[in-house]
Amino acid sequence: LTEELFNAEKYHLIGQLTASISHEIRNPLTTARGFLQLMGRSGLDSATLERYRTNALEGIDGANAIITDYLNYSKPSVDEPRLLDVRQELASVEQWVKPLCVMTGVELVSRHGVHDELPVVGDSKKLQQCLLNIMKNAVESMPEGGVLTVSSRKENGKVLIFIRDTGIGMNEQQLKRIGMPFYTTKEKGTGLGLMVVTNLIQAMGGRLYFRSKPGQGTICEVHLPLKPEDEPVIPLPAP
Ligand code: ADP
Ligand code: MG
Repeated sequence: LTEELFNAEKYHLIGQLTASISHEIRNPLTTARGFLQLMGRSGLDSATLERYRTNALEGIDGANAIITDYLNYSKPSVDEPRLLDVRQELASVEQWVKPLCVMTGVELVSRHGVHDELPVVGDSKKLQQCLLNIMKNAVESMPEGGVLTVSSRKENGKVLIFIRDTGIGMNEQQLKRIGMPFYTTKEKGTGLGLMVVTNLIQAMGGRLYFRSKPGQGTICEVHLPLKPEDEPVIPLPAP
């Protein structure tokens, strides 16, 4: 099953989206605040206190999840394209993902072969946000453990990145819906991760593909335009 995500334009109503995202963050924070306030009452038994504490923490975690998936994306960007090496960006993100893998018994296999640099032009934070969101989904699809394989190569003027998991996979229906704002099948999902990825990869002139089969796992391919060798990147002063 192959599905290319073209939904980005349709859902480019950033203003509306920002409003609904603020709402999505405020809800769990309001809940957390309520439970913290309740904890201030006198004469609460320890079981009740513990329940309030758990609910408050869940509210904060919920708000935090939305910020994690969306943060770099919503940042007002100065849009300073720089020369990036995809291998380095992948290495940084793999460092963040490693602890998640350890926690869920996922083996992280990193295969970047013997190519030299994989130069692309873009914003490092944004590219890392994309790779992180994709890898997090991969890890989350393997709650019982599995293998996360990350590889990259050059091909026909493009840099190809492959992020493969041996997780629960997706059916055709799900493949059609991923990337739509707030589409999630997870109890604690935000449904923002792939929307952010779709928009950012498209803005970089790249493309995003998913192949998946239920019960077998998923391969996500990110295609980015390779920086042409004879084209200098205009050096920008550090911000
Ligand atoms: P969230 O992770 O918060 O649910 P995302 O936008 O990151 O939101 O993903 C949307 C949905 O796409 C997920 O809830 C899941 O159903 C599906 N999905 C994404 N990546 C994978 C994957 N690697 N394996 C299985 N399902 C996936
Ligand atoms: Mg996600």
